[in-house]
Amino acid sequence: MKYVSTRDTSATPAAVSAAEAIKKGLAPDGGLYIPAGVPKLTHGDMEALLSKSYDERAAYILSMFLDDYDSDALAADCRTAYGEERFPGGAAPLHKIDDTDYSLELWHGPTSAFKDMALQIMPRLLSRALKMTGEEKTAYILVATSGDTGKAALEGYKDVDGIKMAVFYPDEGVSPMQKRQMATQEGSNVYVTAVEGNFDDAQSGVKKIFGDKALAEKANEAGFFFSSANSINWGRLVPQIVYYISAYCDLVKSGDIASGDEILVCVPTGNFGNIFAAYIAREMGLPIGRLICASNANNVLTDFINTGVYDRTREFHKTMSPSMDILISSNLERLLYRLCGPAATADLMAALNSEGKYSLPEDTMNKLRDVFSGYWLDETETAAVIRDTFENNKYLVDTHTAVGLGCLRKYRAETGDTRRAVLASTASPYKFAADVCASLGIPAEDSDITGLLNALSAATGTEIPAPLASVLTKEVRFTDVVKPADMAKVPFEH
Ligand SMILES: *Cc1c(COP(=O)(O)O)cnc(C)c1O
Repeated sequence: MKYVSTRDTSATPAAVSAAEAIKKGLAPDGGLYIPAGVPKLTHGDMEALLSKSYDERAAYILSMFLDDYDSDALAADCRTAYGEERFPGGAAPLHKIDDTDYSLELWHGPTSAFKDMALQIMPRLLSRALKMTGEEKTAYILVATSGDTGKAALEGYKDVDGIKMAVFYPDEGVSPMQKRQMATQEGSNVYVTAVEGNFDDAQSGVKKIFGDKALAEKANEAGFFFSSANSINWGRLVPQIVYYISAYCDLVKSGDIASGDEILVCVPTGNFGNIFAAYIAREMGLPIGRLICASNANNVLTDFINTGVYDRTREFHKTMSPSMDILISSNLERLLYRLCGPAATADLMAALNSEGKYSLPEDTMNKLRDVFSGYWLDETETAAVIRDTFENNKYLVDTHTAVGLGCLRKYRAETGDTRRAVLASTASPYKFAADVCASLGIPAEDSDITGLLNALSAATGTEIPAPLASVLTKEVRFTDVVKPADMAKVPFEH
């Protein structure tokens, strides 16, 4: 299995191994790495997967994409990443909401958000890639985060061989719970600091470090090189394909569907990584009839799917589903590559860069709409979904999952489609407790974090996830705040 750049238009595109793609992150021409061909799931594969546990399914599917990795090593890594210690009670359980809709709970890991599904295994994949490619230097990972990614990356990379990491979060931009989760982080190879300013200040600071040749030289002399952990890296995307296939197997096993039945998949979307993983599962042959792309008020993707025009030149909305507050969905580039090839992709990306928008040719547009439907929810609708679902279905969802569920219901109302649906549930409701409490009418406005979690638990009869309960009592290790101009000093001092 070889990997190519989404923007490589040469007759024989430069191909790299999975290990190289994971080590490099971004292709040299600025494109994203993508498998040159998608492996197919045979009837035999599906039969074999049915009887396996989650970590075994993960190892089986990862081996199809990462064929340069030793399969025993992958199996061992998956056992560690998805075992009982990190995912008590199972890595990706399905919860039946009603007759047709199933919530795929991806938040039972160490940070209570779905980023754990990728970030528990990706550091192991990177660590092995460094060894496989004979890399002797330390990879120094830099992360700018608006909340969930930073904590999940810290938990994934802590104490991993050959890797160090610094996380920068905006002093004014994360929730009290997210701040507390990062400030109490353990691990001898990680460092966390706030940055004066907002998320853009933190993000531009990190981008500046990546683009600085002199700093790269200085790092080289000091024995390390800079690397990143976000979803432009194939190593973060490939583990996400697994849970869609696993969910399908679980539905067959429980008798809720027959093998071969088509299902719907609905994903609350930001950077388009999670839903693209579902698309790849479909390309592998998993019977997914339709993918529903759910957005909040930052509905650039809904418009794109409905009109074929991607236009990021619009107002940015701060919503109660902040992990979906995104106007440039980087992984869309991988979908464009699959739909219309590298030359058209390179042109569309150039247009996005220079004009902030692009529009799809008619035939590509038709291919897109054959598979995807797009819907969005405003804040009032999102709060109503949280309330209705708790009252009618006795099921508590977070703000992001609520956007997904509301969009799925709009799709059903509009089309009358009654096929079974798997909804990606991306965070524990306790991670966004303030907005969940407000949506349910639980009085908790003046509470601190502890009070908020307790109020939600008491009013709903649900349990506070152990990883969130534990940060309330953990010692704070990191209290630094740096000016954006001083961010570049961090990797040399910590
Ligand atoms: C990151 C995130 C998303 C968006 O996922 P993408 O892969 O970026 O589309 C949705 N919900 C939550 C809770 C997240 O943390």
